[in-house]
Amino acid sequence: MLKRDGIPGDEDVESITPSAERRAAGPVVWVECFEEIPCDPCHDACPAGAIAEFADINDLPSVEHAECTGCGLCVPACPGLAIFVIDETYSEDEALIRLPHEFSPVPETGEHVTLLNRAGEEVGTGEVHRVQNPGTFDRTAVVWVVIPQELVRDVRAIGKGAGRT
Ligand code: SF4
Ligand code: SF4
Repeated sequence: MLKRDGIPGDEDVESITPSAERRAAGPVVWVECFEEIPCDPCHDACPAGAIAEFADINDLPSVEHAECTGCGLCVPACPGLAIFVIDETYSEDEALIRLPHEFSPVPETGEHVTLLNRAGEEVGTGEVHRVQNPGTFDRTAVVWVVIPQELVRDVRAIGKGAGRT
């Protein structure tokens, strides 16, 4: 329950979930920003105009998923670590999630990592597909992780490495 413990519930998540049609078309943004705070860099980061200009800086972001190209530029731009890009077309039973990561050490490509839900609970294991950590991201790495399809709604962070295969 968002108001009680800061963890969005099913209805909150449903309210920002892209349509099944858009999710089936390839990588798309999930903007999990539920608190009205003075913040708007996600709009400036989006070259596609998929995140509308904020009429009031305290507004929640307004996202047009049909306009999203899945470029991922908004992921490191969000100070709330609230933006994810998920590709559910990655394989028949796997998805590829891009998530912001500000913990040390930053994992490496090929590493197996624990998958955490919004409450920080372990829900499985994934494999790091790619890591983006240029200086322009200002210490917010973007980690691409291959996860089971059935965990698309759950995985929102990674924990410690679980080695390589
Ligand atoms: S993933 Fe790219 S196109 Fe989609 S909302 Fe973010 S910046 Fe815009
Ligand atoms: S940058 Fe992140 S925290 Fe700020 S309004 Fe956009 S989604 Fe919310």
